[in-house]
Amino acid sequence: MMVDNKPSLVGLSLSELKEKMGEIGVPEKMRNMRAKQLWRWIYHYGIKDFDVITDMAKDLRAKLKENFTLERCEVVERLVSKDGTRKWLIRPERGIEVEIVYIPDVARSGALCISSQVGCTLNCSFCHTGTQVLVRNLTAQEIVMQLMVARDDLGEWPTPFENRQITNIVFMGMGEPLYNFDNVETAIEILSDGEGIAIGRRRITVSTSGIVPEMNRLGQIGVMLAVSLHACNDKLRDVLVPINKKYPLEELFAAIRAYPDLSNSNRVTFEYVMLKDVNDSIDDAKDLLKLIKGIPSKVNLIPFNPWPGSDYVCSDRAKVKAFSEFLFANGYSAPIRRTRGQDILAACGQLRSESVKKRASERKTD
Ligand code: SF4
Repeated sequence: MMVDNKPSLVGLSLSELKEKMGEIGVPEKMRNMRAKQLWRWIYHYGIKDFDVITDMAKDLRAKLKENFTLERCEVVERLVSKDGTRKWLIRPERGIEVEIVYIPDVARSGALCISSQVGCTLNCSFCHTGTQVLVRNLTAQEIVMQLMVARDDLGEWPTPFENRQITNIVFMGMGEPLYNFDNVETAIEILSDGEGIAIGRRRITVSTSGIVPEMNRLGQIGVMLAVSLHACNDKLRDVLVPINKKYPLEELFAAIRAYPDLSNSNRVTFEYVMLKDVNDSIDDAKDLLKLIKGIPSKVNLIPFNPWPGSDYVCSDRAKVKAFSEFLFANGYSAPIRRTRGQDILAACGQLRSESVKKRASERKTD
Protein backbone atom coordinates (compact mmCIF):
# COMPACT_ATOMS: atom_id res chain seq x y z
CA MET A 1 0.00 0.00 0.00
CA MET A 2 1.40 3.38 -1.04
CA VAL A 3 0.78 6.72 0.61
CA ASP A 4 2.39 9.82 -0.95
CA ASN A 5 4.39 7.45 -3.14
CA LYS A 6 5.90 5.71 -0.13
CA PRO A 7 5.06 2.13 0.83
CA SER A 8 3.47 1.70 4.25
CA LEU A 9 5.21 -0.76 6.55
CA VAL A 10 1.99 -1.34 8.48
CA GLY A 11 0.51 -4.76 7.82
CA LEU A 12 3.71 -6.30 6.48
CA SER A 13 5.03 -9.68 7.56
CA LEU A 14 8.40 -10.10 9.25
CA SER A 15 10.04 -11.34 6.06
CA GLU A 16 8.67 -8.34 4.16
CA LEU A 17 9.99 -6.00 6.83
CA LYS A 18 13.40 -7.66 6.49
CA GLU A 19 13.29 -7.10 2.75
CA LYS A 20 12.45 -3.45 3.29
CA MET A 21 15.42 -3.12 5.62
CA GLY A 22 17.59 -4.49 2.82
CA GLU A 23 16.17 -1.90 0.41
CA ILE A 24 17.45 0.95 2.57
CA GLY A 25 20.89 -0.54 2.99
CA VAL A 26 20.70 -2.21 6.41
CA PRO A 27 23.48 -4.85 6.35
CA GLU A 28 22.24 -8.38 5.99
CA LYS A 29 23.27 -9.52 9.45
CA MET A 30 21.33 -6.66 11.05
CA ARG A 31 18.12 -7.02 9.05
CA ASN A 32 16.43 -9.60 11.20
CA MET A 33 17.03 -7.61 14.37
CA ARG A 34 15.86 -4.35 12.82
CA ALA A 35 12.76 -5.99 11.38
CA LYS A 36 11.92 -7.42 14.81
CA GLN A 37 12.35 -4.04 16.44
CA LEU A 38 10.04 -2.47 13.89
CA TRP A 39 7.57 -5.31 14.37
CA ARG A 40 7.31 -4.51 18.06
CA TRP A 41 6.87 -0.79 17.44
CA ILE A 42 4.25 -1.29 14.75
CA TYR A 43 2.21 -4.12 16.19
CA HIS A 44 2.68 -3.76 19.92
CA TYR A 45 2.88 0.01 20.25
CA GLY A 46 0.85 0.91 17.14
CA ILE A 47 3.14 3.84 16.31
CA LYS A 48 2.41 6.24 13.49
CA ASP A 49 5.68 8.13 13.57
CA PHE A 50 9.22 6.82 13.13
CA ASP A 51 10.55 9.53 15.48
CA VAL A 52 9.24 7.73 18.56
CA ILE A 53 11.46 4.73 17.94
CA THR A 54 13.95 4.98 20.77
CA ASP A 55 16.12 1.99 20.01
CA MET A 56 17.32 2.99 16.55
CA ALA A 57 19.90 5.59 15.66
CA LYS A 58 18.72 8.90 14.30
CA ASP A 59 20.14 8.33 10.81
CA LEU A 60 18.33 4.99 10.47
CA ARG A 61 15.11 6.61 11.57
CA ALA A 62 15.67 9.34 9.01
CA LYS A 63 16.16 6.72 6.30
CA LEU A 64 12.99 4.94 7.31
CA LYS A 65 11.11 8.21 7.15
CA GLU A 66 12.52 9.09 3.79
CA ASN A 67 11.54 5.79 2.21
CA PHE A 68 8.50 4.50 4.05
CA THR A 69 5.42 5.53 5.95
CA LEU A 70 3.41 4.17 8.88
CA GLU A 71 0.12 5.37 7.42
CA ARG A 72 -3.05 3.34 7.57
CA CYS A 73 -5.67 3.06 4.86
CA GLU A 74 -7.95 6.00 4.32
CA VAL A 75 -11.07 5.72 6.51
CA VAL A 76 -13.93 6.80 4.25
CA GLU A 77 -16.67 6.41 6.80
CA ARG A 78 -16.93 5.78 10.53
CA LEU A 79 -20.18 5.00 12.27
CA VAL A 80 -20.85 4.36 15.94
CA SER A 81 -24.13 2.78 16.98
CA LYS A 82 -26.00 3.54 20.17
CA ASP A 83 -25.27 -0.02 21.27
CA GLY A 84 -21.51 0.43 20.90
CA THR A 85 -21.19 -1.36 17.55
CA ARG A 86 -18.74 0.43 15.30
CA LYS A 87 -18.30 0.29 11.57
CA TRP A 88 -15.58 1.62 9.38
CA LEU A 89 -15.32 1.74 5.64
CA ILE A 90 -11.72 1.84 4.55
CA ARG A 91 -10.28 2.41 1.10
CA PRO A 92 -6.97 0.59 0.55
CA GLU A 93 -6.90 1.94 -3.00
CA ARG A 94 -9.20 3.66 -5.45
CA GLY A 95 -12.27 1.51 -6.14
CA ILE A 96 -11.46 -0.92 -3.33
CA GLU A 97 -13.54 -0.47 -0.22
CA VAL A 98 -13.70 -2.74 2.78
CA GLU A 99 -16.11 -2.75 5.65
CA ILE A 100 -15.03 -3.59 9.20
CA VAL A 101 -17.41 -4.13 12.11
CA TYR A 102 -16.64 -4.10 15.83
CA ILE A 103 -19.21 -5.80 18.02
CA PRO A 104 -18.75 -5.28 21.75
CA ASP A 105 -19.91 -7.74 24.38
CA VAL A 106 -19.56 -10.98 22.53
CA ALA A 107 -17.20 -13.65 23.80
CA ARG A 108 -15.45 -12.08 26.79
CA SER A 109 -15.31 -8.64 25.37
CA GLY A 110 -15.53 -7.76 21.72
CA ALA A 111 -15.15 -9.22 18.27
CA LEU A 112 -13.85 -7.60 15.15
CA CYS A 113 -15.42 -8.87 11.96
CA ILE A 114 -13.04 -8.55 9.04
CA SER A 115 -13.07 -9.30 5.33
CA SER A 116 -10.82 -11.38 3.13
CA GLN A 117 -12.06 -10.34 -0.30
CA VAL A 118 -13.81 -7.40 -1.86
CA GLY A 119 -17.11 -8.81 -3.04
CA CYS A 120 -17.53 -12.57 -3.34
CA THR A 121 -17.88 -15.16 -6.07
CA LEU A 122 -20.22 -17.44 -4.22
CA ASN A 123 -23.64 -15.80 -4.60
CA CYS A 124 -25.33 -17.18 -1.50
CA SER A 125 -28.91 -16.18 -2.18
CA PHE A 126 -29.59 -14.58 1.23
CA CYS A 127 -26.32 -12.67 1.40
CA HIS A 128 -25.90 -9.08 0.47
CA THR A 129 -22.22 -9.44 -0.36
CA GLY A 130 -23.17 -12.23 -2.78
CA THR A 131 -24.88 -9.60 -4.92
CA GLN A 132 -21.59 -7.77 -5.36
CA VAL A 133 -19.15 -9.04 -7.95
CA LEU A 134 -15.75 -10.12 -6.75
CA VAL A 135 -13.40 -7.23 -7.19
CA ARG A 136 -10.31 -8.96 -5.86
CA ASN A 137 -8.64 -10.78 -3.02
CA LEU A 138 -7.33 -8.61 -0.24
CA THR A 139 -3.62 -8.75 0.43
CA ALA A 140 -2.38 -9.88 3.85
CA GLN A 141 -1.45 -6.26 4.51
CA GLU A 142 -4.99 -5.09 3.76
CA ILE A 143 -6.43 -7.75 6.05
CA VAL A 144 -4.16 -6.75 8.95
CA MET A 145 -4.87 -3.09 8.22
CA GLN A 146 -8.50 -3.68 9.23
CA LEU A 147 -7.39 -4.54 12.76
CA MET A 148 -4.97 -1.62 12.86
CA VAL A 149 -7.69 0.88 11.92
CA ALA A 150 -10.08 -0.54 14.51
CA ARG A 151 -7.46 -0.50 17.27
CA ASP A 152 -6.50 3.07 16.39
CA ASP A 153 -10.08 4.17 16.72
CA LEU A 154 -10.66 2.26 19.95
CA GLY A 155 -7.42 3.66 21.36
CA GLU A 156 -6.15 0.17 22.01
CA TRP A 157 -2.38 0.74 21.91
CA PRO A 158 -0.02 -0.54 23.14
CA THR A 159 -1.48 -4.04 22.95
CA PRO A 160 -3.15 -4.48 26.34
CA PHE A 161 -2.63 -7.74 28.20
CA GLU A 162 -5.96 -7.56 29.92
CA ASN A 163 -9.29 -5.79 29.59
CA ARG A 164 -9.03 -5.63 25.85
CA GLN A 165 -11.83 -4.33 23.73
CA ILE A 166 -10.95 -6.49 20.75
CA THR A 167 -10.47 -9.98 22.11
CA ASN A 168 -11.61 -11.99 19.11
CA ILE A 169 -11.31 -11.78 15.37
CA VAL A 170 -13.81 -13.34 13.04
CA PHE A 171 -13.33 -13.70 9.30
CA MET A 172 -17.02 -13.29 8.63
CA GLY A 173 -17.03 -10.14 6.57
CA MET A 174 -16.92 -10.03 2.82
CA GLY A 175 -15.63 -12.96 0.85
CA GLU A 176 -14.75 -16.61 1.20
CA PRO A 177 -11.49 -16.71 3.23
CA LEU A 178 -10.49 -20.13 1.93
CA TYR A 179 -10.42 -18.76 -1.62
CA ASN A 180 -7.73 -16.36 -0.48
CA PHE A 181 -5.90 -18.83 1.68
CA ASP A 182 -2.29 -17.68 1.42
CA ASN A 183 -3.07 -14.10 2.33
CA VAL A 184 -5.43 -15.09 5.13
CA GLU A 185 -2.75 -17.39 6.54
CA THR A 186 -0.08 -14.69 6.47
CA ALA A 187 -2.50 -12.23 8.08
CA ILE A 188 -3.25 -14.74 10.85
CA GLU A 189 0.48 -15.15 11.48
CA ILE A 190 0.79 -11.40 11.96
CA LEU A 191 -2.38 -10.99 14.04
CA SER A 192 -1.56 -13.83 16.41
CA ASP A 193 2.12 -13.16 17.04
CA GLY A 194 2.73 -12.72 20.76
CA GLU A 195 5.23 -9.88 20.25
CA GLY A 196 2.68 -7.72 18.51
CA ILE A 197 -1.09 -7.75 18.20
CA ALA A 198 -1.16 -11.01 20.15
CA ILE A 199 -4.65 -12.28 19.49
CA GLY A 200 -4.29 -16.01 20.08
CA ARG A 201 -5.26 -18.39 17.32
CA ARG A 202 -8.00 -19.91 19.45
CA ARG A 203 -9.57 -16.48 19.42
CA ILE A 204 -9.52 -16.22 15.67
CA THR A 205 -12.40 -17.81 13.82
CA VAL A 206 -12.46 -18.37 10.09
CA SER A 207 -15.87 -18.81 8.58
CA THR A 208 -16.23 -20.79 5.38
CA SER A 209 -19.17 -21.65 3.20
CA GLY A 210 -17.61 -25.11 2.94
CA ILE A 211 -14.59 -25.21 0.65
CA VAL A 212 -13.89 -28.81 1.55
CA PRO A 213 -10.41 -29.28 0.01
CA GLU A 214 -8.98 -26.39 2.06
CA MET A 215 -10.49 -27.21 5.41
CA ASN A 216 -7.79 -29.55 6.60
CA ARG A 217 -5.16 -26.94 5.78
CA LEU A 218 -7.12 -24.43 7.84
CA GLY A 219 -7.14 -26.86 10.74
CA GLN A 220 -3.34 -27.05 10.62
CA ILE A 221 -3.13 -23.32 11.35
CA GLY A 222 -4.87 -23.85 14.67
CA VAL A 223 -7.71 -21.37 14.28
CA MET A 224 -11.36 -21.97 15.08
CA LEU A 225 -13.72 -23.12 12.37
CA ALA A 226 -17.11 -21.67 11.54
CA VAL A 227 -19.30 -23.03 8.79
CA SER A 228 -22.08 -21.12 7.05
CA LEU A 229 -24.56 -23.94 7.07
CA HIS A 230 -28.04 -22.40 6.75
CA ALA A 231 -29.69 -25.55 5.41
CA CYS A 232 -29.71 -29.20 6.38
CA ASN A 233 -30.49 -30.90 3.12
CA ASP A 234 -28.70 -30.63 -0.19
CA LYS A 235 -31.75 -29.48 -2.11
CA LEU A 236 -32.20 -26.36 -0.02
CA ARG A 237 -28.51 -25.75 0.55
CA ASP A 238 -27.90 -25.85 -3.21
CA VAL A 239 -30.14 -22.77 -3.37
CA LEU A 240 -29.01 -20.90 -0.27
CA VAL A 241 -25.30 -21.69 -0.49
CA PRO A 242 -24.70 -22.75 -4.11
CA ILE A 243 -21.14 -23.97 -3.47
CA ASN A 244 -23.00 -26.91 -1.93
CA LYS A 245 -23.47 -28.28 -5.46
CA LYS A 246 -19.72 -28.72 -5.61
CA TYR A 247 -19.18 -29.82 -2.01
CA PRO A 248 -22.42 -31.38 -0.77
CA LEU A 249 -23.30 -31.92 2.86
CA GLU A 250 -21.86 -35.40 3.12
CA GLU A 251 -18.40 -34.23 2.01
CA LEU A 252 -18.67 -31.08 4.07
CA PHE A 253 -19.46 -32.98 7.24
CA ALA A 254 -16.71 -35.50 6.65
CA ALA A 255 -14.28 -32.56 6.51
CA ILE A 256 -15.77 -31.00 9.63
CA ARG A 257 -15.50 -34.24 11.57
CA ALA A 258 -11.87 -34.52 10.51
CA TYR A 259 -11.04 -30.96 11.63
CA PRO A 260 -8.18 -31.25 14.13
CA ASP A 261 -8.49 -30.81 17.88
CA LEU A 262 -12.23 -30.42 18.16
CA SER A 263 -13.37 -30.61 21.76
CA ASN A 264 -15.88 -28.95 24.03
CA SER A 265 -13.51 -26.04 24.45
CA ASN A 266 -12.74 -25.92 20.71
CA ARG A 267 -16.09 -26.11 19.09
CA VAL A 268 -17.16 -25.61 15.51
CA THR A 269 -19.61 -22.78 15.06
CA PHE A 270 -22.46 -23.37 12.66
CA GLU A 271 -24.03 -20.25 11.33
CA TYR A 272 -27.67 -20.56 10.53
CA VAL A 273 -29.63 -17.65 9.16
CA MET A 274 -33.32 -17.81 10.04
CA LEU A 275 -35.47 -17.42 6.95
CA LYS A 276 -39.22 -17.41 7.32
CA ASP A 277 -40.85 -20.61 6.02
CA VAL A 278 -37.61 -21.64 4.36
CA ASN A 279 -35.45 -23.30 7.00
CA ASP A 280 -37.03 -22.45 10.35
CA SER A 281 -39.33 -25.36 11.27
CA ILE A 282 -38.80 -27.84 14.07
CA ASP A 283 -38.33 -30.51 11.39
CA ASP A 284 -35.42 -28.44 10.09
CA ALA A 285 -34.03 -28.30 13.62
CA LYS A 286 -34.31 -32.11 13.84
CA ASP A 287 -32.40 -32.48 10.57
CA LEU A 288 -29.80 -30.10 11.91
CA LEU A 289 -29.39 -32.20 15.04
CA LYS A 290 -28.86 -35.32 12.96
CA LEU A 291 -26.15 -33.61 10.94
CA ILE A 292 -24.17 -32.24 13.85
CA LYS A 293 -24.57 -35.20 16.18
CA GLY A 294 -21.33 -35.95 17.99
CA ILE A 295 -19.53 -32.85 16.71
CA PRO A 296 -18.44 -30.47 19.50
CA SER A 297 -20.28 -27.45 18.20
CA LYS A 298 -22.63 -24.60 18.74
CA VAL A 299 -25.18 -23.09 16.42
CA ASN A 300 -25.43 -19.36 15.96
CA LEU A 301 -28.94 -18.49 14.92
CA ILE A 302 -28.93 -15.32 12.91
CA PRO A 303 -32.22 -13.51 12.44
CA PHE A 304 -32.17 -12.50 8.78
CA ASN A 305 -31.43 -8.85 8.31
CA PRO A 306 -33.24 -7.80 5.14
CA TRP A 307 -31.46 -5.65 2.62
CA PRO A 308 -32.98 -3.78 -0.32
CA GLY A 309 -33.96 -6.30 -2.98
CA SER A 310 -33.56 -9.42 -0.84
CA ASP A 311 -35.93 -12.34 -1.54
CA TYR A 312 -36.30 -13.47 2.04
CA VAL A 313 -38.05 -12.43 5.21
CA CYS A 314 -36.81 -12.98 8.75
CA SER A 315 -38.48 -15.79 10.68
CA ASP A 316 -40.96 -14.80 13.37
CA ARG A 317 -39.44 -14.30 16.77
CA ALA A 318 -41.43 -17.15 18.28
CA LYS A 319 -40.11 -19.54 15.65
CA VAL A 320 -36.52 -18.50 16.16
CA LYS A 321 -36.98 -18.96 19.88
CA ALA A 322 -38.57 -22.38 19.47
CA PHE A 323 -35.75 -23.46 17.15
CA SER A 324 -33.17 -22.29 19.65
CA GLU A 325 -34.91 -23.95 22.60
CA PHE A 326 -35.20 -27.23 20.72
CA LEU A 327 -31.46 -27.31 20.10
CA PHE A 328 -30.66 -26.32 23.68
CA ALA A 329 -32.98 -29.05 24.96
CA ASN A 330 -31.00 -31.52 22.89
CA GLY A 331 -27.67 -30.48 24.31
CA TYR A 332 -26.46 -27.89 21.79
CA SER A 333 -25.86 -24.28 22.56
CA ALA A 334 -27.88 -22.28 20.04
CA PRO A 335 -27.85 -18.61 20.97
CA ILE A 336 -29.85 -16.17 18.90
CA ARG A 337 -27.61 -13.45 17.61
CA ARG A 338 -28.78 -10.10 18.83
CA THR A 339 -29.27 -7.67 16.02
CA ARG A 340 -26.61 -5.06 16.50
CA GLY A 341 -26.01 -1.64 15.10
CA GLN A 342 -29.49 -1.34 13.57
CA ASP A 343 -29.03 2.41 13.35
CA ILE A 344 -25.83 2.19 11.28
CA LEU A 345 -26.69 0.01 8.26
CA ALA A 346 -26.40 -3.29 9.99
CA ALA A 347 -26.43 -5.88 7.21
CA CYS A 348 -23.02 -7.04 6.10
CA GLY A 349 -21.70 -5.25 3.07
CA GLN A 350 -24.41 -2.62 3.24
CA LEU A 351 -22.09 0.24 4.10
CA ARG A 352 -19.87 -0.54 1.16
CA SER A 353 -22.87 -0.85 -1.18
CA GLU A 354 -24.21 2.49 -0.05
CA SER A 355 -20.84 4.05 -0.67
CA VAL A 356 -20.59 2.49 -4.14
CA LYS A 357 -24.08 3.81 -4.94
CA LYS A 358 -23.22 7.24 -3.61
CA ARG A 359 -20.09 7.43 -5.73
CA ALA A 360 -22.02 6.29 -8.81
CA SER A 361 -24.66 8.98 -8.34
CA GLU A 362 -21.95 11.57 -7.67
CA ARG A 363 -20.33 10.59 -10.98
CA LYS A 364 -23.67 10.99 -12.76
CA THR A 365 -24.19 14.48 -11.41
CA ASP A 366 -20.61 15.54 -12.17
S1 SF4 B 1 -22.34 -15.72 2.68
FE1 SF4 B 1 -20.10 -15.52 2.53
S2 SF4 B 1 -19.55 -16.94 0.88
FE2 SF4 B 1 -21.77 -16.60 0.67
S3 SF4 B 1 -21.93 -14.87 -0.80
FE3 SF4 B 1 -21.91 -14.02 1.28
S4 SF4 B 1 -19.74 -13.45 1.63
FE4 SF4 B 1 -19.79 -14.95 -0.08
